[in-house]
Parts: sequence; C-alpha cells; structure tokens
Amino acid sequence: MSDCLFCKFVSGEISPQTVYEDDDVLAFRDINPQAPCHVLIIPKKHISTLNDLTEQDAELVGKLYLAAAKVAKQEGIDEAGYRTVMNCNEQAGQTVFHIHLHLLGGRRMNWPPG
Ligand code: AMP
Ligand code: ZN
Repeated sequence: MSDCLFCKFVSGEISPQTVYEDDDVLAFRDINPQAPCHVLIIPKKHISTLNDLTEQDAELVGKLYLAAAKVAKQEGIDEAGYRTVMNCNEQAGQTVFHIHLHLLGGRRMNWPPG
C-alpha cells in the first residue's frame, strides 16, 4: 500500500531500526518506546486492522507470535516476561493501520492496562 508507513519499511523506502526479519515478518524498534524494550512485529503483507484478517492469514498471525518470542529471547526478556498487544481501531488506540504486534518488556507491566 503506497501511503502506508509500515509498507514503506517493508519495501525499504524507509529504514526502521530492524531487530528481526524473515520472509513473512519484519520487527523493528518503536520510535516512541513505552518500555525499555518496545518492538513492533508486522507482517510484510499489508493488512489494515485485526478486523480485516481472513482464514488465509491464520498462519501469518502465528508467525507474528513466533517472531515475538524470538525477539524476546534475542532481547534477553524472555525469562523475566513480556507483553504482546495488538490494538484494533480507534478506541484501542490504533494509529498505524497496518497490523502490528507490540512487544513490550524490560519493566513490570501493569494489569489491567489503562
Ligand atoms: P498503535 O498505536 O497500536 O497503532 O501503534 C503504532 C506504533 O507505531 C506507536 O507505538 C508508534 O510509536 C509507532 N511508530 C509510529 N511511527 C513510527 C516510526 N516511524 N518508526 C517506528 N515506530 C513508529
Ligand atoms: Zn501497510
């Protein structure tokens, strides 16, 4: 999608701070980190919101979580613990409309979230 920031990361038009990449997934540091470790994991395929997933995307979503676990290990936060979050639409605070899994760690997380 030509006007999508995260598609520009995938195409290489803009370079994020990449921490992990494979054929299907890209992971990079959030520009406005909410925790000592804050990484966004995205599918290379453009999907606007969680509501737009199809049955064909089921494996791809699994790959986002596999990548999150790999990055957590790479970042050294896997044993202490971390949180993964995907916001959907306005009330959840979604601001970039290319789905992304937030990986947050390196500090204690509050529950329930605000
Ligand atoms: P969400 O609010 O769930 O849509 O999350 C979007 C996230 O993208 C926010 O945490 C932003 O800080 C992050 N973000 C926005 N622009 C960039 C950028 N250029 N590079 C890295 N992260 C970004
Ligand atoms: Zn996109």
